[in-house]
Amino acid sequence: MGLAVYVHIPFCPTKCGYCDFNSYAMEGEVIDKTIEAICSEINNSAWKGMSASTIFFGGGTPTFLSEKQLIRVFEAVLSAHPPESSAEITSEANPGTVDMPKFAAMRRAGFNRISMGAQSFVDNDLIRLGRVHRAGDIERAVGAAREAGFSNMNLDLMFGLPGQNRRAWLSNMERAIALQPEHLSLYCLTIEQNTPFYKEHSRGELVLPEDEELVTMYEDCGARLQKAGYLQYEISNYTQPGLECRHNLAYWNGDDYAGYGPGAVGCMDGVRYTNLKHPELYMKALSDGRPLFFESEKLTEETRRVERIMLGLRLNSGIPRKGLEVSPIAFKKLVAKGWLEDDAEVLQLTKQGRHFCSEVALELI
Ligand code: SF4
Repeated sequence: MGLAVYVHIPFCPTKCGYCDFNSYAMEGEVIDKTIEAICSEINNSAWKGMSASTIFFGGGTPTFLSEKQLIRVFEAVLSAHPPESSAEITSEANPGTVDMPKFAAMRRAGFNRISMGAQSFVDNDLIRLGRVHRAGDIERAVGAAREAGFSNMNLDLMFGLPGQNRRAWLSNMERAIALQPEHLSLYCLTIEQNTPFYKEHSRGELVLPEDEELVTMYEDCGARLQKAGYLQYEISNYTQPGLECRHNLAYWNGDDYAGYGPGAVGCMDGVRYTNLKHPELYMKALSDGRPLFFESEKLTEETRRVERIMLGLRLNSGIPRKGLEVSPIAFKKLVAKGWLEDDAEVLQLTKQGRHFCSEVALELI
């Protein structure tokens, strides 16, 4: 079984108001230099030679790079981690930074899956979020990706947006379904510290849907997607049969993964590391011959058990109970509440329990 390989491209055209990802609105020479540094990290990797079962370019916005820049990094990955013949090879894409020639070059190079950051089909939402694209760009980008030969595509959508109501969310769902993506990831907007949205929210300037409405929005989309033939396999993820995101499944199943690039996280041989986040700090460490990570942690058995429960519970299939110590009292209590299935073999959330995944995990660990 090959490795899951993640590459972090930390650049975006602008910074969205809600974003706390490791991304920077930079342009020019710094991008070329960072790309060379990422290639150098990959070429000197301790895991060079291990084949890849999945490769995922995330960010930031990988498609903010030019074709030449993106493929330069991609070729470094291919040479360090030859992909298995059935490897899933994904790039995130922002609809405002792509066109047919770019998608065609990516497809020719070997990418076979696109994860499109659509977020909303309402222009006012996109403006409010600080996105660079508009609704029409999503449809254009999906068409361009299809024309370039991508037959496996995810759309990311967000609900719980400022001023959004149930009707607007359902209309978003319809626009998404009409594009027939193979996979949909639906996330609720969260207000993260150190973002412009956090400050606005603290000042009472952000009107967000109430919790009850969020629950309804979540259930609405589950029901609508099921009717459209999608299967839910994780709290926020829906797929046409057999097209689950294998890269993300590797995270949720606790498999090893290698991470490259500024701010990338990897977990190899029982050690989790996080690379220096700012591109300048990352490049300086590389040129000084110092380690690229700023933190690393040897995972103890207990940490692995806790993470296994926290991540595995997100999956609809649950996690096998064998070898996982959980308190029988907590288990019974959660079953009585209707949040966990009463199953001796598998820890599995009920439909109701999916609203309380963190609470269930905390109770169990
Ligand atoms: S495009 Fe994504 S990574 Fe970039 S600023 Fe917006 S939310 Fe953050």
